[in-house]
Amino acid sequence: QLSIRGLKKSYGDAEILKGVNLDVRQGEVVVILGPSGSGKSTFLRCINGLEEIQGGEVKLDGATISGLKNSALPAVRQKLGMVFQSYDLFPHMNILDNITLAPTKVQKRSRKEAEAEARELLSRVNLADKEKAYPRMLSGGQKQRVAIVRALAMHPELMLFDEVTAALDPEMVREVLDVIMELSEQGLTMLIVTHEMSFARAVADRIVFMDGGHIVETGTPEEFFTAPKTERARTFLDNFQ
Ligand code: ATP
Ligand code: MG
Repeated sequence: QLSIRGLKKSYGDAEILKGVNLDVRQGEVVVILGPSGSGKSTFLRCINGLEEIQGGEVKLDGATISGLKNSALPAVRQKLGMVFQSYDLFPHMNILDNITLAPTKVQKRSRKEAEAEARELLSRVNLADKEKAYPRMLSGGQKQRVAIVRALAMHPELMLFDEVTAALDPEMVREVLDVIMELSEQGLTMLIVTHEMSFARAVADRIVFMDGGHIVETGTPEEFFTAPKTERARTFLDNFQ
């Protein structure tokens, strides 16, 4: 359902993505691994239309979504939910309002319906009692679960996660990863960048290993973690032992 061909991205003279190809089927969970600076975040940002690209094409359900003019982007972005390392909730709005803002303003759904759904989603991530709280009153793990709920409230076809647990204290990592694991079991299509190797192995249908702006290797978690094909992947994995 997501199809990326020959994606190129440069900052000035520095070519960061050097022609990346990737297909993600509906319901598939693809985990992107790779060393720092290999281009993983840039790749997600290009898919989401946050970056101008210098070559190639991104298609969602057969429609080209790369290179769109700004006016056409919002509709496409609604199909893609993205959650980053920093949860960027609106500090002056309570949790319920954070979640219902885009569904009501952008998708013009009724407040009643949006709130009902927000409450339902909040209870799925065990935060039903926090709807009136403000972001500053929540822990990092709780804020990150709200950020995931906020993205889900837009009914995305595809979720992009960029190191969503990287800024969390260790004891909060699990609760966020559990939510993502549950989403995978429900069949949501996801593209996940993480440095949590055991989580990657457990959640992924397929591992994509990036280095130096290329996809160097792909395989099942089993293949990748037990018998990586490339020296670069072996070196990368050795650093996590
Ligand atoms: P990490 O694991 O540390 O998050 P990453 O794989 O996500 O790394 P990117 O953030 O995609 O890596 O960065 C890839 C390269 O692009 C890096 O060399 C980085 O310095 C460069 N880069 C990223 N954003 C910009 C920018 N806005 N301007 C210039 N260079 C950038
Ligand atoms: Mg990154």
